[in-house]
Order: sequence, then structure tokens, then C-alpha cells
Amino acid sequence: MSLINKLIRPFAATGSQCIWPGLIEAYRPFLPVSEKTPVITLQEGATPLIPVQSIANRIGRGVKVFVKYDGLNPTGSFKDRGMTMALSKAKEENSEAVICASTGNTSASAAAYAKRGGMKAFVLIPDGYVAQGKLAQALVYGAEVISIKGNFDAALEIVQKMSDQYPITLVNSVNPYRLQGQKTAAFEIIDSLGDAPDWLCIPMGNAGNISAYWMGFKEYFKHKKAKKLPKMMGFQASGSAPLVQNKIIKEPETIATAIRIGNPVNREKAINAKIESKGEFLAVTDEEIVEAYKMLASKEGIFCEPASAASVAGLLKRKDNIPLNSTIVCVLTGNGLKDPDCAISNNDAVFHIKVENNLDVVAKTMGF
Ligand SMILES: *Cc1c(COP(=O)(O)O)cnc(C)c1O
Repeated sequence: MSLINKLIRPFAATGSQCIWPGLIEAYRPFLPVSEKTPVITLQEGATPLIPVQSIANRIGRGVKVFVKYDGLNPTGSFKDRGMTMALSKAKEENSEAVICASTGNTSASAAAYAKRGGMKAFVLIPDGYVAQGKLAQALVYGAEVISIKGNFDAALEIVQKMSDQYPITLVNSVNPYRLQGQKTAAFEIIDSLGDAPDWLCIPMGNAGNISAYWMGFKEYFKHKKAKKLPKMMGFQASGSAPLVQNKIIKEPETIATAIRIGNPVNREKAINAKIESKGEFLAVTDEEIVEAYKMLASKEGIFCEPASAASVAGLLKRKDNIPLNSTIVCVLTGNGLKDPDCAISNNDAVFHIKVENNLDVVAKTMGF
């Protein structure tokens, strides 16, 4: 029986419904929390692991493909896994405010969890490069938003200095509690599959998430909850691929704004994950990203944001290298609703506009 089931049972026994308690309670023994830690949660985690047959069909050879749809977290991205930990620990340390630089999802999540914990949130975003849904979230959760004339990397430099010089907690993925929370996604995958997958495909921006997954897989392996470790396959957009090209990219460019990062702070950890797991880093073009994005939505009914689709685009690019009968998990890091502009400009839908308000005309338009 999985840890999740063991932990959920007591809730069911109270006579209330079977409620998922959030990832800190679900995985408490694996996390650096104590009785004194005030748990700030929106019941994040427990996201679905969905089989995607159309992707598997493209590969063939008995390969099974699943997506870990982390866009179904409370603020619509995996960042919530990290923020429940980062904000709970900040609260435990009596911090009154948090700060982050963000391509959008970190700020949305930090704002929500800060407010949940009665704290202030300051977020720095690159002017003009944050998807509309993400900006809407930061604003409505009541963060103080500072849009700077510069890219993510420039914003991160400023917030790092701010947190050194002022009494404010940094909640970017340099905050070690973030990765502790995020590693629970690897636990959930093993709890669902009964073992680790053969490949874990994941987009990389600051490369915190790939590092967190690797930590999670190794921990569960050590506790004998998995018999193997996956190959870590990290994908970047070709216009923003510092880890693939092994150099800092001064002016990163990609449609996938969540991974538009030229100088990843978790570079060393990610390279280590690649080497230890005998994995690979690879770049995918914006065209390949958009193709995977449209395919997931129109063939599988799964709407993710463009950055997330890089995991599937990368898998398809490597499809001839996949061993027979492998099990593969692609991480869908964020929800498609975050970036409606991208969806409206990239789809193959039949969209009839300004049709006359008349039954015959409508029927004729529909081909009857
Ligand atoms: C933050 C983010 C990423 C990149 O994650 P890193 O930990 O920075 O590598 C990818 N996709 C989405 C949707 C994100 O929000």
C-alpha cells in the first residue's frame, strides 16, 4: 500500500470525506518540517498521472507514456509544491514578507501562499514577457508587482541582493525548501506506477525542478519504494538553452516564456542529475514545442502551457532511442489557461466568426 493511502485512511476514518491533506502532511516523514512548522497549504499535490495513447502510438514498440499533469495544482503550476514548503518554513522563521523574481508562475504561487499565510509578497517580473493569466493571478492575490525593464536573469540578481540586505525571504528555487517540496512529485509517480519510470522527461528553466525530481527518485529508491532510477531527460527551448549549449545565454528567446532563462541558478545540480542518471539534455525548437502543445490539447484533451509541452516535444525528438516496452513520464509543469494568447494564436480549430443569427445560416455553416 502506498504512503498516500496510509495517510489518507485516518481522514476517512474520522467520518469526513477522504480528503487529500496537501503534500506536507502526505509526505511529512520525508520533509524537513517539525511539530513547530505552521503548515501553509492549499492542498497542493496528488496531481493525475494520465496515459497519453496518441503520443505512445507515435513511438510504438510497446512504450507506455504518461503525463504528470502538475498544471492541476492550486495556482496552476508545480511551483505550488515548492511554495507550500518555502512559505511554511518562512512563517516558522517569523518572516513577514517574501520576494521572488519570476517568469510568472513563481510569482502567482508565491503570492497565493504568502496571502494564505498572512504574509506579504513582492514579485519582480520581466516587463512584457509574463503570460497574461500569470500576471492576473499575482495581481488578484494581492502581491506587490514590480515589472522591471530587463529579463528574468536580471530580476533574479536584484531579488537575491534584496534578500541579502533586507529582512525578506527569497522564494526562488535557490531556496532549498522549494526543491524539498517539489521532490514529492517523484514520490507520487512511484506511488502510482509502483516503480520509477524508465525516462523522466521535463522542461528546464532554472533547472530546479529536474534537480528536485532527481532528489525525490533517489530518496524513494533508497527507501526501497522503487527498484530502479529513471534517466533524467531535460529539455530546453533552442533559443534559450544554456544547459544544452553549456554557456550563459544573454538574450534568451522562446514562445515558452516560463523557460526563457539564460543563466540557470541550479546548473550544477541539474548537470549532476543528468550524469548520475545517464540522462541527456536536448534543445527543442519553438515549432516542435507548439506541435506537441497542440497535439496534447487536440488529441488528448490536455491543455498545458507551451513550456510544459517541451517535455513531450523532446520525447518525440528522441523517439528512436527509446528501448522496447519502456515506461515514460513527461512532466506537464503548468496549465494552458495561464497563456491564453498562445492558445488563440496556435490552434487548428475551425472558428466561424460573425455568423448571422439565423437557424438556416448556422445549420448551413455547420455543413447540414
Ligand atoms: C518554472 C517553470 C518551469 C521551469 O522549471 P525550473 O525549475 O525553473 O527548471 C517550466 N515550466 C513551467 C510551466 C514553469 O512554471
